[in-house]
Amino acid sequence: MSEHIITFNAGSSSIKFALFSVDAEGRLRRAAAGQVDGLGSNARLAAKAADGRVLHDGGLPAGPACGHGDALAAILALIQAAFPQLRFAAIGHRIVHGAARHSASTLIDDAVLASLHTLVPLAPLHLPNNIVGVEVTRRAFPGVPQVACFDTAFHRGGGFLGEAYALPRDYFEAGIRRYGFHGLSYEYVAGRLAELSPREAAGRVIVAHLGNGASMCALRGGRSIDTTMGFSALDGLPMGTRCGAIDPGVLLHLLQTHGYDAARLSDLLYKESGLKGLSGISHDLRALEASEDAHASEAITYFCARIRREAGALAASLGGIDALVFTGGIGENSARVRAAVLGGLDWLGIRFDPEAASEERGDRVISAPGSPASAWVIATDEEAMIARHALGLVRAAPPRVQAA
Ligand code: AMP
Repeated sequence: MSEHIITFNAGSSSIKFALFSVDAEGRLRRAAAGQVDGLGSNARLAAKAADGRVLHDGGLPAGPACGHGDALAAILALIQAAFPQLRFAAIGHRIVHGAARHSASTLIDDAVLASLHTLVPLAPLHLPNNIVGVEVTRRAFPGVPQVACFDTAFHRGGGFLGEAYALPRDYFEAGIRRYGFHGLSYEYVAGRLAELSPREAAGRVIVAHLGNGASMCALRGGRSIDTTMGFSALDGLPMGTRCGAIDPGVLLHLLQTHGYDAARLSDLLYKESGLKGLSGISHDLRALEASEDAHASEAITYFCARIRREAGALAASLGGIDALVFTGGIGENSARVRAAVLGGLDWLGIRFDPEAASEERGDRVISAPGSPASAWVIATDEEAMIARHALGLVRAAPPRVQAA
């Protein structure tokens, strides 16, 4: 009987999961994957086995208004029914924030769980959902090792200069720092680029993770040296509904002269801005690409201009660029966004090949042959990264007695 690892990646209203089998050599193979969307209002679970068999596509037993805990229980029940012989080697969780103290993935014990609770104020919209995931699966499988994989961990190591804001130094000590996010995605993409082109992966690489959340990362030799997100997942690029970089003076103005409070500001910055706010139509790039409305194309143009600007800034941090990689739902799928970004980056030595850029096929080079710096599309896989970390930690740990 082979062992399995299940991974959970909880967002504010969604949970992605993936089931991997582990063979005798420690190779991971995806056995099933799926996603719950619309938690709290219109929850739906879609899950497929690796052979394409639909395991579920519809509502959840706890109803459309169910929350993260019920959704996790439903996913676990579904997986156990579909794979009755299952034995978990580990359960891996994406944890959005690890602050300075969690700079690597870790096995979750009572102390780690207590530590996660203390970090909730740093990511109040996401961390509670991550913690619910850990608590539900710990209760359901008390003998199975649980692993926390932090989205911030990949960016640690920049020291004071890399992580400080220009505030009085006490604020840095108190944890007001640039943390960076999407680390599991960047780590996966860095590893995949190293498989595809070790020479470029060893050099200066910018990765653009463009999805509903969007950020960019400068990698030198596969390690993060700069990134566009900072203390929170608001900074940097505009996103589906998040504003990206904004003059903090705007926030002071709204607080002082427009009667905004923290809750109203939070809604504005996290839920009403970005592509949704700019277009007045949708947060979803596909909907904007399909729209004839001038505000839709203006929002896309704005988004691409900010990506080019951040590419320039990150290239300056790197002292040049050897490769630029697009990933995430938009980066992997939108030929229009890639063309608009790359069309303005020839000064960085990226000669764009529109034919390659618009072809729809797997991980690939999209710059012209002979381009001084290359451009790539690489599909990210945060779930695979979580599973690798989980497997690495349980294989390194002393054997545990599994509860009956
Ligand atoms: P993610 O958060 O990585 O799942 O990415 C979600 C974003 O990717 C949404 O804005 C989608 O509209 C966008 N997206 C997904 N597929 C496509 C596609 N084929 N063309 C354009 N945008 C897409």
